[in-house]
Amino acid sequence: MSIRDNIKRVEDRIADACANVQRNPADITLVAVTKQKTVPEILEAVDAGLRQLGENRVEEGMAKIPLVNDAANDKPTWHMVGHVQSRKAKHVVPQFDMVQSVDSLKLARRLSRLADEKERRLKVLLEINVSGEASKYGFAGYNWCRDSSVRDDLWREVGEIAAYPHLELAGLMTMAPYDADEAIIRRVFADLRALRDALADELKLRLPELSMGMTNDYPIAIEEGATMVRIGRAIFGERV
Ligand SMILES: *Cc1c(COP(=O)(O)O)cnc(C)c1O
Repeated sequence: MSIRDNIKRVEDRIADACANVQRNPADITLVAVTKQKTVPEILEAVDAGLRQLGENRVEEGMAKIPLVNDAANDKPTWHMVGHVQSRKAKHVVPQFDMVQSVDSLKLARRLSRLADEKERRLKVLLEINVSGEASKYGFAGYNWCRDSSVRDDLWREVGEIAAYPHLELAGLMTMAPYDADEAIIRRVFADLRALRDALADELKLRLPELSMGMTNDYPIAIEEGATMVRIGRAIFGERV
């Protein structure tokens, strides 16, 4: 299967998932996660029509993004989807259009200051650890609905970040457990959506984006309200 064929298959599955819940496929943004893939492979995806690309490591992005941008006819939009160490934040702002993986107040504050220096406004999502797995980054969101201390912390942190003038807080991002039962995965996605709805309502914010769903679970994520899916392997094949 070529990258072009794979993209077609992913788009068909996105359309099927949308049909299951009466959603419009045009409301789903497909972000191709290009980590560990070469510039020629990435350009194949661009040639096939994808314009939203994601990387999870700062250095890898810095090496590849300028090459892809130079070779592509119109510049793709780049999403940072991986953990960003604070000291590397300065390299993120020039290369990336959006940071989906803002996982601490400290990183948010630093990105806002760096965006200010570059006289721009950086689009961000807040990564929320809804599943509660210790291995995952993100603001603590496990059991936010019932645990008032989790809820209080989140409301304060999200409120503070939403007020940073050089960040445009556009929504939330999460990752479901990798190999869990469908019911558990579905609950994680539903939980992120409910959290978004509650934050938007109570803090009077516009939080249109829900970035959730990867190769293993994107149809479920779409059924639960994802507006962005981040797909690597289903497009580019297994990473070695
Ligand atoms: C690698 C990665 C993806 C894509 O995962 P696949 O299983 O290859 O689709 C999505 N989001 C993040 C944050 C990633 O690191």
